[in-house]
Amino acid sequence: MSATDWGNIYKELGAKPVINATGSVTMLGGSTPAPEVREAMERADSAYVPLMELEERAGEAIANMVDVPAAYITSGAGSALTLATAACMAGDDDAKIEQLPNTTGMKNEILIQARQRYWYDRCLELAGAKLVSFGTLESTSREDLEKAISPNTAAVHYYAVAQEPDPHALSLEDTIEIAHDKGVPVLVDAAGQIYPLDLFGSYVRMGADFQCTAAKYMGAPQSTGLAFGSVDMIHKLALQSFVSYEGRRIRGVGRPQKVDRQEMVGAVAAVRRWMTMNHEDRLAETELKCRNMLKPLQSIPGVTAELIDNIIGHQPYGVTLELNSAVAGLAAEDVVNRLKAGDPPIWTRIREGDTGIILHAFGLNEGEDEVVGQRIAELFNK
Ligand SMILES: *Cc1c(COP(=O)(O)O)cnc(C)c1O
Repeated sequence: MSATDWGNIYKELGAKPVINATGSVTMLGGSTPAPEVREAMERADSAYVPLMELEERAGEAIANMVDVPAAYITSGAGSALTLATAACMAGDDDAKIEQLPNTTGMKNEILIQARQRYWYDRCLELAGAKLVSFGTLESTSREDLEKAISPNTAAVHYYAVAQEPDPHALSLEDTIEIAHDKGVPVLVDAAGQIYPLDLFGSYVRMGADFQCTAAKYMGAPQSTGLAFGSVDMIHKLALQSFVSYEGRRIRGVGRPQKVDRQEMVGAVAAVRRWMTMNHEDRLAETELKCRNMLKPLQSIPGVTAELIDNIIGHQPYGVTLELNSAVAGLAAEDVVNRLKAGDPPIWTRIREGDTGIILHAFGLNEGEDEVVGQRIAELFNK
């Protein structure tokens, strides 16, 4: 592909390609598969393969590389969450698997800290489970969880964000101890918790029964995700999947959440790449792109532009822009909207709960870092 072919495949359809300064977000396409991932996907076309077998072998390969007991490739981390809840409710009982999302006669409540309610918790309800919040918006105690667990509790969910630990949430250690004491499994959303490498898979190694990872964050097709867990949990999760629906003729809720064979081998290649790549180089390249975005933005009156120095998780570094609109003449929303209206459009965002704009380098092609910095500076006549 030449640079002059930028976005033409979309333009031919009448859709407008954009420069992605937001980062790895589903809405813009999530990720671009790495060259070794694309090569693996291409090789998959040479033959057909029974997907039940491929899922098992690919899961074993990934589990070995990540050092977790078992793994399974899903249709995004979102599907991993849905299948995990189905596994917690129906287990390996085929009649129950075929009964979902009707949960009559099953434990069907997923406990979640009120403080940890989040965008993707809807995925926990898709198989018929009901979310039940515990604790308050201010804090969660051990007692809150102890009191919340009932005979109807199918699992406790935990949202892990190592780069921004929440001091007022109940810790995962406490969650696992209390839940396991009552025989209740613990599910963890660790979608972006993939770096440093010892963080990758760490929640299952700590004792959680399941964790999901979004493969979109590691150079796989964004339509893939990874479920890690105990052998028993991943076995039950697999029984809910589209592969089980077709291969075992047991009609579980996972049928609409397909993964292609190309995507399965692509996900294996993406994990292999992630476990063996030079992360120092990856981080240095990302930091440089962020510094290039930052450079033209540093002496604009009313604009405070800073480098984020985080390297934990899936999206290292980044640039924050805080605006004093009285001095700068524009509010943060105006900047986001004008960048989107430009040619080519540049997509950025004000993250939920924040006041300023956050720029990330994850989705920027060669040279686009400088374009983003300059286009923003131009809005302020710089
Ligand atoms: C992206 C993301 C998901 C969903 O992952 P998909 O692979 O897009 O389904 C879930 N949880 C968190 C925290 C995420 O960042």
